[in-house]
Amino acid sequence: MSDFDVIIVGGGIAGASLGSEIAAKRRTLIIEAEQHCGYHSTGRSAAFFLESYGGAEVAKLSTASRAFLHRPPEDFAERGFLHTRGDLHVTRAELPRLPAGVETRVVERAELERMVPGIKAEWRRALFEPSCADIDVASLHAAFLRRFRQRGGTVATGSRLAAARRTQGRWQVELEDGNSVAAATLVNAGGAWADDVAAACGVAPLRIAPKRRTMVQLRVGRSGLKDLPLVDDSDGSFYFKGEGDRTVWLSPHDEIETGPCDAAPEEIDIATAIDRFESVVDWPIERVERSWAGLRSFAPDRLPVYGYAADQEGFFWCAGQGGFGIQTSPAAAKLAAAVLLDEEPDPMVASIGPAIFSPSRFES
Ligand SMILES: Cc1cc2nc3c(=O)[nH]c(=O)nc-3n(C[C@H](O)[C@H](O)[C@H](O)COP(=O)(O)OP(=O)(O)OC[C@H]3O[C@@H](n4cnc5c(N)ncnc54)[C@H](O)[C@@H]3O)c2cc1C
Repeated sequence: MSDFDVIIVGGGIAGASLGSEIAAKRRTLIIEAEQHCGYHSTGRSAAFFLESYGGAEVAKLSTASRAFLHRPPEDFAERGFLHTRGDLHVTRAELPRLPAGVETRVVERAELERMVPGIKAEWRRALFEPSCADIDVASLHAAFLRRFRQRGGTVATGSRLAAARRTQGRWQVELEDGNSVAAATLVNAGGAWADDVAAACGVAPLRIAPKRRTMVQLRVGRSGLKDLPLVDDSDGSFYFKGEGDRTVWLSPHDEIETGPCDAAPEEIDIATAIDRFESVVDWPIERVERSWAGLRSFAPDRLPVYGYAADQEGFFWCAGQGGFGIQTSPAAAKLAAAVLLDEEPDPMVASIGPAIFSPSRFES
């Protein structure tokens, strides 16, 4: 049980989805520091699929993932993971420019008032993106882990990589609990800890920066909100979506620089979220039902990183999933798996070149 072909560090959506793609072909172990996979970013997302999000290159991965998320293969899950609600990109002035190919239509003020009753007059119009959907993140993550195990993969929770070194073509991995495991290939799917994992393996960090984002569940004096579209502004200063009949999930769209940690919301960010919300709709706020925060981790160019490190043999980056790691996971895992295994890409990602996501783009 201590010798594998591949060890994946991190059991969030990145590690689980990539693991599910390679487990049938390589003896693979996922080591997860926490007692359960998905404790960090994966378990704290806003859980939506928004095709236009993250720019043109990320949109390709999202678009490629959509059919799988909507109607997964029967042997992967019994039902789809998406529940369509649409997104209104509201504006006081100019409509936003979205990546080419994303379906949208302009919504003028009268229709906007019907779609978001109580929206304040300064919000003049919106671009509606009908394909925006909620993602059942817990089910998706569980399905990736189930497939990983079905295909022979092993998951070890409570197993934190402390250090690793490469000798005679293999990684010798020391765990914090004193155990050790070995493999030819080490995958860094450590989320906010990706640079720390690299450093612990003697690999040059890529400056993957964790940024905190705050979420608030608000109860308001307005009913009929459950299927409200996602509402965001073209300046990127808030978003909210209906959660229950009288509750919304709200974010101030914050990106607070931080180190990797068990992120928690700060009062000031909750207050900012509420302040911005009150500038959009006239719904009385009754109470904050709960709040949470998580880390979105970005490479310097805000694109994810999939590929082998240039400075150390057998070290594979699967990091920098920013705010799109859930919605891109099916396609990203297939693309990363093709690079890792040096195989032809799956048809889902055949038209997406992996070079733009390679860590070699950071070499000077
Ligand atoms: C508030 C918020 C809203 C978001 N909304 C969306 C959204 O609507 N749609 C979307 O697609 N994405 C969204 N995201 C982004 C998405 O959640 C992330 O991109 C995704 O979860 C990243 O997955 P991951 O597996 O890389 O990271 P994680 O889920 O954080 O997993 C990394 C794992 O690595 C483990 N680890 C770290 N170091 C070690 C070590 N040394 N040894 C062993 N294990 C280690 C950690 O314990 C952790 O479990 C959101 C994120 C946040 C915070």
